[in-house]
Amino acid sequence: GKALDITRIRQDFPILSETVNGKPLVYLDNGASAQKPTAVLDAMDHYFRTSHSNVHRGAHTLGDRATTLFEGARETVRSFLNARSTNEVIWTRGTTEAINVVANGLAETLSEGDEILVSRMEHHANIVPWQMIAERTGAVIRPIEITPAGEIDESSFDGRLASDRARILAITHVSNVLGTVVPLERLLTKARERGLYTVVDGAQAVPHYQPDVQALACDFYVFSGHKLFGPTGIGVLYGRETLMEAMPPLQGGGEMIERVSFEKTTWNTLPYKFEAGTPPVAEAVGLGAAIDYLGQFSRESLETAEQALLQRANELVETVPGLSVIGTATHKVPVMSFKMEGLHPSDIGTLLDQQGIAIRTGHHCAMPLMDYYGVPGTARASFAFYNTLDEVEQLFQALQKIQRLFAE
Ligand code: PMP
Repeated sequence: GKALDITRIRQDFPILSETVNGKPLVYLDNGASAQKPTAVLDAMDHYFRTSHSNVHRGAHTLGDRATTLFEGARETVRSFLNARSTNEVIWTRGTTEAINVVANGLAETLSEGDEILVSRMEHHANIVPWQMIAERTGAVIRPIEITPAGEIDESSFDGRLASDRARILAITHVSNVLGTVVPLERLLTKARERGLYTVVDGAQAVPHYQPDVQALACDFYVFSGHKLFGPTGIGVLYGRETLMEAMPPLQGGGEMIERVSFEKTTWNTLPYKFEAGTPPVAEAVGLGAAIDYLGQFSRESLETAEQALLQRANELVETVPGLSVIGTATHKVPVMSFKMEGLHPSDIGTLLDQQGIAIRTGHHCAMPLMDYYGVPGTARASFAFYNTLDEVEQLFQALQKIQRLFAE
């Protein structure tokens, strides 16, 4: 593919020209939330200026416009994921809500002693909803261990899967802390052979890869709009249609019903059964615009640009005495967690911010993973395709300075 013109691409993201603490912004917190191109801002603005109304209400033209844009965005997501039908694409508030919908939906398939397998590197969003369901049903959570490099320990995985009581595999596609890309195809194939329901947390994967849910053959795949250069408040639950038909909804209300009476209420058809209340229409439109925006670049060119950033970061690690990287998997997206001798992660974050550099510090909503590495938290730089090699170098120059001034 053709190499990306990063200078031009950066002009699509107005916020990247901001200054922070008198310095040009260096935004390396894309794993927490990515920035938005003008295409997304304009699509939402245009929607509000010309087409806003409630959806699926029919009686007037604006209602039709809003519905067309809203359902058009759903089709964009369907195509992005290669789902069979828009019936399999449910709008949620984000990854967290999507996993809660799935956990609640699968709860009635669980009995006491059934096992839910989750990996040690899951985000809390892919742990806590399962614990709540375990509490309700008597099911138990079984962790899948990782290796020191931050990869799935496949013998632990096989061991967990060998249990007759294993029912659900809930696993991330990409670790938000380590950047590890999980060998999903292999793990999902094994889980399917054992008859488990499979739930994939794609929150950190979709900014880097375009998942094909038919090729993966997972039952559920979820992600958030805001990490995919779209707005907050919108996310996606892909669910296999036969399962979604059988699952109860998490929330009741308007829109998700077919007929309501005091004696008995029946559910609407998919996907609306899982979409109680007025949906985030502008946000759905914005997410559709983000996916369209990304679609102009070949995935290969995006990956090449991102891997160059990661490689440069890896090369510069040794220029900062006392810095060590946590998570050294062979297959990674451009995310780097690290610690520095003599410095608390939050101090690293504050000192970098003074130089205009935004990273994230803390436990990253992955406390079981922090426990594994025996750290209270890490400093994490997470890159997007619009970051430059120059920004990677600025990060490491700033870390060298911090190390000289503050570390023991
Ligand atoms: N899973 C992973 C892997 C994540 O990185 C995040 C966001 N940090 C979430 C789930 C939760 O996403 P959201 O807060 O958008 O619901």
